[in-house]
Parts: sequence; structure tokens; C-alpha cells
Amino acid sequence: MRFSGWRVLKEGLTGNKGWQAHWRDATPKSEYDVVIIGGGGHGLATAYYLAKKHGITNVAVLEKGYLGGGNVGRNTTIVRANYFLPGNSEFYSHSLKLWEGLEEDLNYNVMHSQRGQIVLFHSDGQGDAMARRGNAMINQGDDAEMLDRAALRRMVPYLDYDNARFPIYGGMLQRRAGTARHDAVAWGYARGASERGVDLIQNCEVTGIDIEGGVVKGVQTTRGAIRARKVAMVVAGRSSQVAAMAGMRLPIESHVLQAFVTEGLKPAIDHVISFGMGHFYISQSDKGGLVFGGDLDMYASYAARGNLPLVEHVMEAGMALMPAIGKARVLRSWGGIMDMSPDGSPVIDRTHIDGLYLNCGWCYGGFKAVPASGDVTAHLIATGAPHTAGARFRLDRFRTGRGLMDEEGTGSQHNLH
Ligand SMILES: Cc1cc2nc3c(=O)[nH]c(=O)nc-3n(C[C@H](O)[C@H](O)[C@H](O)COP(=O)(O)OP(=O)(O)OC[C@H]3O[C@@H](n4cnc5c(N)ncnc54)[C@H](O)[C@@H]3O)c2cc1C
Repeated sequence: MRFSGWRVLKEGLTGNKGWQAHWRDATPKSEYDVVIIGGGGHGLATAYYLAKKHGITNVAVLEKGYLGGGNVGRNTTIVRANYFLPGNSEFYSHSLKLWEGLEEDLNYNVMHSQRGQIVLFHSDGQGDAMARRGNAMINQGDDAEMLDRAALRRMVPYLDYDNARFPIYGGMLQRRAGTARHDAVAWGYARGASERGVDLIQNCEVTGIDIEGGVVKGVQTTRGAIRARKVAMVVAGRSSQVAAMAGMRLPIESHVLQAFVTEGLKPAIDHVISFGMGHFYISQSDKGGLVFGGDLDMYASYAARGNLPLVEHVMEAGMALMPAIGKARVLRSWGGIMDMSPDGSPVIDRTHIDGLYLNCGWCYGGFKAVPASGDVTAHLIATGAPHTAGARFRLDRFRTGRGLMDEEGTGSQHNLH
């Protein structure tokens, strides 16, 4: 079924009886060419590009809960390509380009909105570092504009420019950055993959990985054993647990990250604003809710809910940036499990087990990575060779030092990325 304006009109005039389920609820077969563990954004996008770009359709995505129930449906939806270091820079640039054609490609409205992201700075030194980052982004072929305090104030007058601790000196604007509706991204990729023959299997937890003589043979699941020539572990916050089923110990820690949304308000914030010093970021959803988030809860956990000290910290940061926010009522908050890597960059690589692949380490930023991650992971699985856009995301970099990408310059600390 294709979505179009004409279709909406026709359905509206005929009682909306012609809409169909967006994907088949498949039952598992005994064998597949490729099994993808994890029905989040990255798993679904991998399945989609395997089918679309490489013609590999005998594929199953195994999801222990429901599609989109993980972090892909829990994030604050920011999409940007403002990375500095080689490796990340070309990868996120590739991802943003895929985002820009995604709705046409999927024939699905993911509400991608290039409303622009502004990253604030609060000293001359930070401004210099920001300009350097902006130059790197422009060299990569992406956009970046420095805004001084006066220009920024004209654009976003509602910030507290004279906060005693964090006076705002200016900001860097990436106009092509913005937001997208997170769960629609999962649904769009799911629909596209299912239409091309991929089996999407929900309520199917992988409980073991079968390996014989160093070669992957399939998986054990709560719905029985499934044989597979290739298996990809694409489970984000659960990466360490699933990799342990293959006897692997990953350099990944799982931490909780919380987010918040207020009651719906009239349009007030028409950009994404990032306040790095307070580790606070905010945008306004199309429904009117102010969507914002902060820092990690700072202890390893698999609980998809957070604790009150961080709630207090986030509210304080919001008040420091934008005192008017104190009048808004918070409607709800939630948490997601983040797969934190030591250098703040992801892993997309084969493992030492033949036919077993790993996609993890997305830290704070895996939503905007979904299109490129799916493309790069599918390329690796289909061709056996890394995609140029993700060639530095090697698993062995933590042992060999080759390809280390310390984006934040904060050293190998999981909880600082
Ligand atoms: C509060 C919050 C805000 C965020 N904000 C942003 C943002 O603004 N921009 C951005 O780019 N990123 C953001 N992120 C990060 C981003 O959401 C994640 O990095 C990304 O969604 C992770 O990849 P995924 O979508 O594949 O993960 P998930 O959706 O978590 O998918 C993994 C799936 O694997 C399944 N699974 C796990 N174990 C098994 C098993 N044994 N068997 C079968 N299935 C299994 C899980 O149920 C889950 O559905 C944020 C995250 C959070 C929590």
C-alpha cells in the first residue's frame, strides 16, 4: 500500500476502511540467511537496507518485546551531523543525507523537521573550539554558522543571556539539523522491510547463540531454535548481555538516560537548543510539549526508569537556561538504557566468531545514526567488507588503539559520553 495525498482523500471519503497493517506479524521459520537480534531503529534499518540495497530478503528481525519499544521510541529525537573527528564526521554526515531522503525512500511520514540546532557557548575559549568544530563540519560538506550574542538573541530571545554562572556568548547553528518522530522511524523501516519479505518477529527473546567450531549456526529463542548463516547483535543497551551469550565481554556499560515532556504549549521554541554546560537540551514537539533531557544517571543499570536527583539536576539546568520554563508543567518522564562505549563512538564490526556481527556503543546519539547504521551494517553483512562511512568503528580499537575516536576529549570513561 502506498501513502499519498490522493489516498488520504479517498480513504477520508470512503470511511477509512482501506488502511492495512503496516507490517506482517510473522511467525518464525526454522532457518534464515540472516537473523538480526533487536527490533530497534538500528535492527530494523539493517533489515531494510539488506533487502533494499543487497536483495537479501530471507531475513528475520527478532524482538523480545514490541517493535519500537526500546530506545528508538524513548529518545528526544534530535537529528544532527555536527561531529568533529574523522570517523564520526563522515558517518553522521552520511546519516543526515539519508535522513533528507528518508520519507520519500520509505514512503512514510517520519515528521523529519530540519528546524535547526543551536549549540550554545559561554566563554571565548568555548567559542574558539566551536568555530573549529564548525570549520570541520563545513570541510565535511555539512553546514555550520557561528552566531554572536546579538544575532542569537534576535533569533532566540527567551534564553537567559546574563545568567551569572553561564552567560551566553553565542551559538553555533546547524540549519539542516532538527528532529523526527522517533517511533514513526521504527514503523517506517519495519514497513519497508516487511514489504520486501523480511520477517519481523515480536515477543521473541533470544536466549542463546549457537556456535560450532568458531562459526555461528543460529540462535535459541523463547519461540524455539532458529538456524542462520549470519547473526547480527543489534540490541543497544542490552549489548553486553547478548554478546555474553557468544562468550564475549564487551567494552560497553549500560547507563540510564532520562527525558521529560511538558503539557502542550503554544509554539515557543522553533529550534533545538543544546546547553552543553548544563548538559541540557530542549525542543518543542509538533503537539506543543517541550521535550528535554539531561545527563546520565551515572551508574550502570538495566532499569528503564531514572532517579530523582537527576530530575532535579535537569530542572535546574532548564531554569538556568530559560527561566520561563518554570511555568510549564511536566507531564511525564521516562528512561532508556544507553550502551556507553569508552570513546563515545559506536562499534559496527564482525566478531571473532565467523558469521557473527556486532552493532553497539551508540551512547547519547544513536537515533540520528539509525539510517547510516542500518546502511553500514547491512553493507558489512552482505559484502563482508566495511562501508567507507563506518570503517573506523572497529571493535578492536580499544585493544589496539587503531581507530580510537575520543569525540569529547574526556578520555576512556563510559559515563562521560
Ligand atoms: C532519553 C533518551 C534520549 C535520547 N535522545 C537522543 C537524541 O535526541 N538523538 C539521538 O540521536 N539519540 C538519542 N538517544 C539515543 C538513541 O535513542 C539510541 O542510541 C538508539 O535508539 C539505540 O539504538 P536502537 O534504536 O536500535 O535501540 P533500541 O530501540 O533499544 O533497540 C534494541 C532492541 O533490542 C531488543 N532486545 C534486547 N535484547 C534482546 C534479546 N535478547 N532478544 C531480542 N531482542 C532483544 C530490545 O527489546 C530493543 O527493542 C536517546 C536515548 C534516550 C534513552
